[in-house]
Amino acid sequence: MTIETHSRRTPRRTPVSDLHVLAAARLSPLYSQQLQAAFTLHDRLHETDAAAFARVAPQIRAVAAQGETRVNAELMAQLPALEIIAVMGVGYDGVDVAAAKARGVVVTHTPNVLNDDVADLAIGLMLSTARQLPAADRYVRAGQWSGGPMPLARKMSGARLGLVGMGRIGQAIAQRAAAFGMPIAYTARHAKPELPYAYLPSAAALAAQSDFLVVITPGGEGTRRLIDAEVLAALGAKGILINVARGSVVDEAALIDALERGVIAGAGLDVFENEPNVPERLRNLPHVVLTPHIGSATGQTRQAMADLAVANLAAHFAGRALPSPVPECRP
Ligand code: NAP
Repeated sequence: MTIETHSRRTPRRTPVSDLHVLAAARLSPLYSQQLQAAFTLHDRLHETDAAAFARVAPQIRAVAAQGETRVNAELMAQLPALEIIAVMGVGYDGVDVAAAKARGVVVTHTPNVLNDDVADLAIGLMLSTARQLPAADRYVRAGQWSGGPMPLARKMSGARLGLVGMGRIGQAIAQRAAAFGMPIAYTARHAKPELPYAYLPSAAALAAQSDFLVVITPGGEGTRRLIDAEVLAALGAKGILINVARGSVVDEAALIDALERGVIAGAGLDVFENEPNVPERLRNLPHVVLTPHIGSATGQTRQAMADLAVANLAAHFAGRALPSPVPECRP
């Protein structure tokens, strides 16, 4: 039988409890509890106890991380036995994948299992922003209804949707939006002729012909501030921006300015530049709906993500094919 390996360093077969894993950030308990059961887990030891970390670092063979956890070359350099970085999350913009590859360290993530939840939230934010659902809830609770009806809101069905990013989650959003009768267009790095949606070559060109602009690209340098003042101006005074990607993809200062000056009509935001800090100016705006990075935050999906992250570690240490390496680390 051929044993497949995914790093230049062949995994050693070791009793599970002797496998040392570093949790590089505070992990979901759904992930950390499974890690504790199967491995010797060091929870953020590099941040809390330098001396203890120095003692155990030579034995650490895996790093467990979440979507935006920083796993940089400096941390990897302190881990000479490192073989795998297992991210619980589809985005892995915090991981220096080039440095990992240069070391023969494989990186895994958890795509697909969260598509439904993130797409559901995108639609929820679109409806919440257009129909002002949080404001309507506050209106009733505050007893304002007896004073008269709320101002009229904005219709979503039939409005034009522009998707910045047409990957796994973008396509799940498009499927849902089709049920709302929304004409769909998108931009991405490459056109996808197999899909029944119109391709636009830039975010600005897409914004200019969209009522809702939904951002669902990866974070990182390739997309930093892709949504800038020019794109917001193109979206226009009736346009609504939804960001369920990463805070880094939107120029937050330009967005706040655009919202304050009425350059765009509103925004629904799940992600922010400096989480969990959300600028007061943004929090004060009435035509904005804010959620605390909850795209994949259901019990069912977080469990599936934790299971897939652990399955990658288990496969690696058993010498089996990895369920979901990141594209850069695929064989
Ligand atoms: P994916 O399948 O890799 O799709 C990414 C899409 O973004 C692709 O269509 C890609 O274009 C496009 N893209 C990449 N760089 C671009 C650029 N510079 N300009 C325009 N388009 C660009 O990823 P996914 O599974 O859909 O996930 C997307 C992202 O959602 C994740 O990376 C993560 O950051 C975010 N996310 C957020 C939450 C949350 O809690 N809010 C949860 C999960 C994921 P091509 O198709 O041409 O390559």
